[in-house]
Amino acid sequence: MTEKKSQQQVQDEVSLYARIVSRTEELMESGRKNLDEALKKASEDFTSAGEFTREQSERIAGYVKRDLGHAADHLSKTAESIKGAVMPQRLAVGAQSLFARILTTTSEQLQDWAQKAETQLEFKTGEITSPGTLTCKNCQEELHMKRTARIPPCPKCHKTVFRKSY
Ligand SMILES: [Zn+2]
Repeated sequence: MTEKKSQQQVQDEVSLYARIVSRTEELMESGRKNLDEALKKASEDFTSAGEFTREQSERIAGYVKRDLGHAADHLSKTAESIKGAVMPQRLAVGAQSLFARILTTTSEQLQDWAQKAETQLEFKTGEITSPGTLTCKNCQEELHMKRTARIPPCPKCHKTVFRKSY
């Protein structure tokens, strides 16, 4: 995480993130894989194509998994507690639209993921994540991420750990 990354590397990782999401969608829609299998296969596909190292693919797939779990957790809570139109509209522009196809094809896995997500809620500087609001755990400064991107240090206190909401 302390390793200095070039702009190009960051771009590549953001693009790999998006490609793992769409490859996972395709695999899920073919109906032969569950979410864990699909994510694993997607990261293997990009490794074997030689464009990315195994370390990179697995790390980025880990971010996708964390963000999906977080989105699933959020969706399951929202579905129970908020029935109005305000939240879904807001969500439509964020991670939910990015993951919509995956989340809708995995309804029975959502609960599992939602529970696992509780332990995966750390978002750190240097990681890639989907759109949403990151709140600095140290000073509560909010960072609004409008697209999938690398998480910067807190602009206010320069710390590196955040929680996320939509
Ligand atoms: Zn801060």
